[in-house]
Amino acid sequence: MTSPVSHPESDFLQAVVFDLDDTLYPEREFTRSGFRAVSEAFADVLGNAPAACARMNALFDSPHRSRVFNELLRERGVTDPARLVPAMIECYRSHVPSIALYPDADHALTRLKERFSLGLVSDGPRSAQRGKIAALGLQDRLDAIILTGELGDGFGKPHPRAFEEIARRLGVEPHRCAYVADNPAKDFVAPNRLGWRSIRVRRSDGVYANAAAPPDGEPSVTIVTLDDLDPLLRRTT
Ligand SMILES: [Mg+2]
Repeated sequence: MTSPVSHPESDFLQAVVFDLDDTLYPEREFTRSGFRAVSEAFADVLGNAPAACARMNALFDSPHRSRVFNELLRERGVTDPARLVPAMIECYRSHVPSIALYPDADHALTRLKERFSLGLVSDGPRSAQRGKIAALGLQDRLDAIILTGELGDGFGKPHPRAFEEIARRLGVEPHRCAYVADNPAKDFVAPNRLGWRSIRVRRSDGVYANAAAPPDGEPSVTIVTLDDLDPLLRRTT
């Protein structure tokens, strides 16, 4: 028998899980913040800290992106850069970052908290991701957080383990979960395979704004701001 009473909540998914970098805050802000920390901690080698920081930012936006510290040390005439690079990377990853949520992400977390279970699945080095989560105050705003770096080797995206685990922790069936993320190269393969809704936020300043998806990794839908998220969380869309 059909109930005469409407249950609008049943028309919606039950859990919204977010990616972190470039989904909830601008990754480039973390990069700038980390370069500032390194320039200050290694000023005895790098010289004037603001100048070294500016040079690291320029190198990050050049073909040297993956070798910023090596390249800077080479430019500064350091003969044995391999001796210093691991300590610079550790400083970069473990510094207390100066970062803030995108305003639309901040609003979405507040708005959705009333009606959905909220989670986070993120790749990346554990110390850096934990520092970001603390700086952004996300621990108190999400019901579950899974860092793939804490699951052991080989469980980074697109491995499905983190997605299966967070759905279990949130107590929600896979077909009632959505994953909101920015990088189609790796973010949507597992959610698609598990029957989640996959939603890409394509920010103009995002590091992966122009990344392409593998054949099984296309998002269900793409938006440019989380202000447009809510209608996509209906079960029938
Ligand atoms: Mg991301």
